[in-house]
Amino acid sequence: MTAADETLDVALQSWVDDANAPGTDFPIQNLPFGVFRHDFEERPRVGIAIGAHVLDCMAAVRAGVFDALSPPVRDALQSWSLNALMGLGRDDARTVRHAASRLLRADSDEGRSARTMRDVLLVRMDRVGMLVPAEIGDYTDFYASVFHATNVGSMFRPDNPLLPNYKYVPIGYHGRASSVVASGAPVRRPRGQRRPDPNAPPVYGPSAGLDYELELGAWLGGDSAIGDTVPIARAEDRLFGLSLLNDWSARDLQSWEYQPLGPFLAKNFLTTVSPWIVTLDALAPFRVPAFERPAGDPAPLPYLNDAADQARGGFDVTLAVHLASAQMREQGIAPLRLSTGTFRQMYWTFAQMIAHHASGGCNLRAGDLLGSGTVSGPDKGSRGCLLELTWRGAEPITLPTGETRAFLADGDEVTMNGWCARDGAARIGFGDCRGIVRAAN
Ligand code: MN
Repeated sequence: MTAADETLDVALQSWVDDANAPGTDFPIQNLPFGVFRHDFEERPRVGIAIGAHVLDCMAAVRAGVFDALSPPVRDALQSWSLNALMGLGRDDARTVRHAASRLLRADSDEGRSARTMRDVLLVRMDRVGMLVPAEIGDYTDFYASVFHATNVGSMFRPDNPLLPNYKYVPIGYHGRASSVVASGAPVRRPRGQRRPDPNAPPVYGPSAGLDYELELGAWLGGDSAIGDTVPIARAEDRLFGLSLLNDWSARDLQSWEYQPLGPFLAKNFLTTVSPWIVTLDALAPFRVPAFERPAGDPAPLPYLNDAADQARGGFDVTLAVHLASAQMREQGIAPLRLSTGTFRQMYWTFAQMIAHHASGGCNLRAGDLLGSGTVSGPDKGSRGCLLELTWRGAEPITLPTGETRAFLADGDEVTMNGWCARDGAARIGFGDCRGIVRAAN
């Protein structure tokens, strides 16, 4: 995609007025896919975000305004999830994007006609519930920030912070697809084994170290069979789009259980995703080079090294985390920004993560979800979890109410946001990824 893509034209305006408001996450240049449900019905529907509204894709197909799309694409848009569209792949999804753009433009024939069908095609975002946008077959969480890995390693293993494999292997673990939930779902504090006194046996009970992890989620399209690999040069073809992801983590459970096989109950109790998947077409103006490895670091092994990926494999996405305690919300105090980071500083690209994931013959399927790993940068203000921000509780954060936090308290609301902005392109955003911590059962 180049600037010649008419859907990215910064001058485009929509007949949906709130899509033209400055600062909206969902201008007509974004058009992310999601799955929503009317409050009054059970059946989930595919939608496209436009301003403070959702374009109901099933209604659009039934109204005949998507007749130019191929029959398989129209079928996919009437499905209960995005898996069918993800299975068709990015080229077919792009035909939907182009049709939706013309339909929602203020200055097109299609737009003038669609405007008269506004009540059929559009629903207000605050009138619908958003769901996890795909049935996730498998979820894998990576560890792609070298700054996060170094910080965490220096707390868990002071004499050996960054293990020697880090700069060769995109490190990850297989997570739990069944406990991935959409933004807004409650976050029940997990119980588990922890060892508060290192000289005494472990105890079982509510985690005292509940944390968030600021990440991007990558939703995969297409399918590859068991035994197949995905060459790095074609790995991005499998990347359907991105959302925000919060890998809730219980640090006290994690430090006790993680060796020798890695995270387990410390992370499998819940993962929250933002419900709108921003496509790579929408992100095209915000592509940047892969992270530049410092002098002395090894080059990626050949199967992870591709000139195009090195030149354009990064995403210039700014990410932020806000915290509002129950007391702050009661007193009407605005959420406190805890950190701001950028995805530009990730050591591994999503293409490298995909190529590596499949390099041993593991199949990747439409609807699979990859987490990037906590997005942290070199500065304290860009640390993407409380473990790093408070240095495992040693430097607590003070909230505007005077409350302090080493880790999350019951009632705390964590909200993540992400956006892309640069001169010459329309600003686009990812919407919210939020959750409120509830007391352990
Ligand atoms: Mn994580």
